Amino acid sequence: MIGLISATAAGAVAAQRLASAWPERTRVYEGPVRDAVRRAFGECEQLVCFLATGATVRLLVPLLADKASDPGVVCVDEGGRFAVSLVGGHAGGANELAREVGELLGAEPVVTTATDAVEVPGLDTLGFPVEGDVAGVSRAVLDGTAVELDLELGWPLPALPPNVSCVSNVSNVRGDHSERSGRPVIHVTDRLLDAGEGRVVLRPPSLVVGVGASKGAPVDEVLGLIGSALADAGLSARSLAELATVDAKAGEPGIVEAAARLGVPLVTHSAEELAAVEVPNPSDAPLAAVGTPSVAEAAALVRGGELLVPKRKSERADGRPAMATCAVVRRPARGRLAVVGLGPGARDLLTPRARAELRGASVLVGLDQYVDQIRDLLRPGTRVLESGLGAEEERARTAVAEARKGQAVALIGSGDAGVYAMASPALAEASDDIDVIGVPGVTAALAAAAILGAPLGHDHVSISLSDLHTPWEIIERRVRAAAEADIVVTFYNPRSRGRDWQLPKALSILAGHREPTTPVGVVRNASRPDGSSRLTTLASLDPATVDMMTVVTVGNTATREIAGRMVTPRGYRWQEAAATSGSAAGHEGAR
Ligand code: SAH
Repeated sequence: MIGLISATAAGAVAAQRLASAWPERTRVYEGPVRDAVRRAFGECEQLVCFLATGATVRLLVPLLADKASDPGVVCVDEGGRFAVSLVGGHAGGANELAREVGELLGAEPVVTTATDAVEVPGLDTLGFPVEGDVAGVSRAVLDGTAVELDLELGWPLPALPPNVSCVSNVSNVRGDHSERSGRPVIHVTDRLLDAGEGRVVLRPPSLVVGVGASKGAPVDEVLGLIGSALADAGLSARSLAELATVDAKAGEPGIVEAAARLGVPLVTHSAEELAAVEVPNPSDAPLAAVGTPSVAEAAALVRGGELLVPKRKSERADGRPAMATCAVVRRPARGRLAVVGLGPGARDLLTPRARAELRGASVLVGLDQYVDQIRDLLRPGTRVLESGLGAEEERARTAVAEARKGQAVALIGSGDAGVYAMASPALAEASDDIDVIGVPGVTAALAAAAILGAPLGHDHVSISLSDLHTPWEIIERRVRAAAEADIVVTFYNPRSRGRDWQLPKALSILAGHREPTTPVGVVRNASRPDGSSRLTTLASLDPATVDMMTVVTVGNTATREIAGRMVTPRGYRWQEAAATSGSAAGHEGAR
């Protein structure tokens, strides 16, 4: 809950704007501000104070206890110009809240936490749970002092600045490495180690716990077993990725509740699948009960990995037979491949998710001209592997190879990276040992359509006229099919210096089924500074005005030019209704 506190009329108006935008997330605290701040501080995870920073600081001082547990506090000035992240920037989420509040109120977010301000990742924002001297080591990372990265497990991290150097696979016992060098260290491990001064530990999601339980096994017994198995093996529960069991136990309350309390998903596998896994300790009991000689070990091992804790049984204080079993496996690190569409060109058509993936990458792979488009968004230290036109296969292979090495890779493409772009060659190369994250982008057909009006209001296809990789006969067959089916067509790659006859040929096929007056939209460099668009017709389109920076959208037999815009009616029946009533208005909703 976000507590809202204001003292003046202007403050109250701004607070009300937040309250109505986020009714579920906010609560307005009325009354004298001292009292309101005190109550909100005790009851909310975050506060927004429409007060001067000085006044807010004075009110907060007696309440502040610990940066790990204090609420995050954002201050908004009387004029609504600034949203200042005052305390709890990272742990309290005040930096993020300042940005959100800023966006909502049109105020400038002010963030002074060092790591955020200079775009170096705060060690608590690298995507993994972190413990230890976060402030001290973040400071060292920022100061440019030499920091060691002990990458015991190769899980993907965003780019770190050059003063952080990898001393991977030292596999030192309990971190004595840092004692030797005296340098601050970032450990990436699932092992328990004391993270004292100058040392932080990042917990990658490397552990899978397989669980078996007889009917009615109490959750405390299951949790106690898992806890002691991890502790005895010197492993951190914060590296737990999932609990795994057999399908038949998917609804076993003790297991379901244990996963919920541990905050990890419960993954289940069929008995058949588990029976095929080779395990050190098979037994007859589960075979009779659920059809596999092993549940805990097999479920933990089914996706591969190293068995760290073989099957063990719970211990019951009352001496009755154990009702739960578990086994712990360290799964292989999974690299990360984000396939990111950058949109048609304009920065504000790049989605926030795409931006976040670019910032989360340690390796960026893409065509040089696209890299230039977003270079400023990358974290310092991001390795950029750019190549020229035509090197698609190589880019795809490189991106996948880097992800398989355990890197966080972003493979970029303009528009949507899955449309005539890198996603398919990359996924054709990729095995299931990496995580693949697709981030959609605004593809050229949509960017162009928005400029032209509403040409895609009914069924439409995209056809690439590039016969570089596709035989012309296939392209022509598809154009013909679109022509016969009366579908709106957007042509990508319509014409280049060496490919000039394909567009006229495709248009002539469409002209066989559509009037010469059919509207055609020609959009060049949509959303880019030198963008242009023209609305013409099938008969009068001059192919010489079309190049590779262009998409050409040909209407169907119902498409009309209305007030200079290209409009394809939502349906033929609607169109009749619109024709008789003289207007298509009022037909917007679902029918
Ligand atoms: N993945 C891209 C398409 C790559 S194919 C996307 O989803 O948009 C390259 C073709 O896309 C170009 O030849 C051109 O036809 C079209 N294109 C890409 N960006 C464009 C833009 N901003 N304006 C017009 N056409 C564009």
